[in-house]
Amino acid sequence: MDPITAITRGGTTWTPEFAVALDSKKCIGCGRCYKVCTRDVLELIDRSDEDIDEDTEDDSESISSVMSLADPMDCTGCGACSRVCPKNCLTHKALPLGV
Ligand code: SF4
Ligand code: SF4
Repeated sequence: MDPITAITRGGTTWTPEFAVALDSKKCIGCGRCYKVCTRDVLELIDRSDEDIDEDTEDDSESISSVMSLADPMDCTGCGACSRVCPKNCLTHKALPLGV
């Protein structure tokens, strides 16, 4: 199946790239992605033991929450979340409808 394509107001076609994964080990819980997302895709959750990256040298011990993809099927593929994420946590992909 072909990936979903969209169209701008001016008539230009573009291919949305949907948020398909969020690396909680890199996430610092800053909430920037949540602030720019216009849909109900993202949710801040308590950090679990699996989210702690032993190789991380920052003050990760003090991070109690990380972002998660609560409802990825609500994503429009705008890419705004990745534009503002300082840790490059999100992965995006062009996808067919309903996948
Ligand atoms: S790509 Fe857009 S709609 Fe999807 S999670 Fe990111 S900001 Fe929200
Ligand atoms: S912008 Fe990046 S680091 Fe900040 S909460 Fe979102 S995913 Fe985590």
